[in-house]
Amino acid sequence: MRYKRSSELFRQANRVLPGGVNSPVRAFKSVGGTPVFVSEARGSRFTDEDGNQYIDFISSWGPLLFGHAFPPVLDAVIERTRKGTSFGMPTALETEVAELAVSMVPHIEKIRFVNSGTEACMSVVRLARGYTGREKIIKFAGCYHGHADAFLIEAGSGAVTFGSPNSPGVTRGTARDTLMARYNDLESVKELLDANPGEVAAVILEPVAGNMGCIPPEAGFLEGVRELCTTSGALLIFDEVMTGFRLAAGGAQQALGIRADLVAFGKVIGGGLPVGAFGGPAEIMAHLAPEGPVYQAGTLSGNPLAMGAGLAMLQAIERDPGVFNRLSAKTAYLHKGLDEVLKSTGQPYRINLFGSMISVHFTDRDVRDFESAATGNNEHFRKYFHGMLDRGVYLPPSAFESYFLNDALTEEDLDLAVEAAAAALGA
Ligand SMILES: *Cc1c(COP(=O)(O)O)cnc(C)c1O
Repeated sequence: MRYKRSSELFRQANRVLPGGVNSPVRAFKSVGGTPVFVSEARGSRFTDEDGNQYIDFISSWGPLLFGHAFPPVLDAVIERTRKGTSFGMPTALETEVAELAVSMVPHIEKIRFVNSGTEACMSVVRLARGYTGREKIIKFAGCYHGHADAFLIEAGSGAVTFGSPNSPGVTRGTARDTLMARYNDLESVKELLDANPGEVAAVILEPVAGNMGCIPPEAGFLEGVRELCTTSGALLIFDEVMTGFRLAAGGAQQALGIRADLVAFGKVIGGGLPVGAFGGPAEIMAHLAPEGPVYQAGTLSGNPLAMGAGLAMLQAIERDPGVFNRLSAKTAYLHKGLDEVLKSTGQPYRINLFGSMISVHFTDRDVRDFESAATGNNEHFRKYFHGMLDRGVYLPPSAFESYFLNDALTEEDLDLAVEAAAAALGA
């Protein structure tokens, strides 16, 4: 049996871990079946506990820009480890990573390191509220900014609406301060700002959405949001946890030519270790403790292993700026192959892509916001996902997630993935 050991391990895990995992999407709830337990990985591939090999299209959900076990990151972590893993005191290394990050990303003068994307988004919103003296935020249905209370809100019944909690444990009070707009719908943002004059601290969004599949911003959308923020006095926050150091060295701000007031990072910036960060102009960042009154702290923030990995990753990007074009070319190549296969099935589908992010939706509607993303045929998606898995191709186990390509993927890997898709879909 192909997944025998993984099934055993999943049963064992379920006895001591809620749902058998430490992060929900790993449990295969939306595709069914047993999650594969990984034993090791290198380059574009990983091996599971049953000894099956897979071509990996999630790259640890984004961080592994150059593939698994990237030697510069491994070397940095091993070298730092020998000198102690954490001090709770400043190190020269933190300044070095900060200088490099600030030099790569447009419009950022100062940066604060934290331990996850969730922490980065939660903290950057607190800073925006502290800086503006306003309490409400606008987010977009389908955009994910980690699991802090303020973001676990869903659109209510109205078209454009005050949010309601979408998880037990989030209070109605919190939900009242999160207003919900529709992605790629500028009018929905304008309505919320008009209805809450002088009350909105920030508009936060994924500049290229990746948590409802990949949804690129339509022409004029981000420009319009930028303009609305400037006129209303709300700060524009780009959540670049996914897009930062992935779409370009300077993230979406550089790739799309739009200035954000504050930016949150995660994923690639830690090279596969737990790192998040947020940054902006010195004048805004000066409001953060200990320089200013907005509190934020972390025992393990900026620890030398995480910073060593992050530095190695950012230096690798700086040495090799061609990586972004290579990744885009690989993604375009995969798109072409998948498109041919899907076309021959006769089933409706859409493929969205931007840079190294791509997703397949089994729907006849253009996928441009959460509502259209939700029209995908989940039965068809399951069949596609499991057909690929059984043939050694690991895709995100949910139709609402983007693939993340890495530079270790070869043309052979991509050809094999396309062949697997043809077999999986009976094309
Ligand atoms: C992954 C992600 C987060 C959360 O980061 P974690 O490190 O998982 O806490 C936030 N925002 C976006 C856009 C993400 O993709």
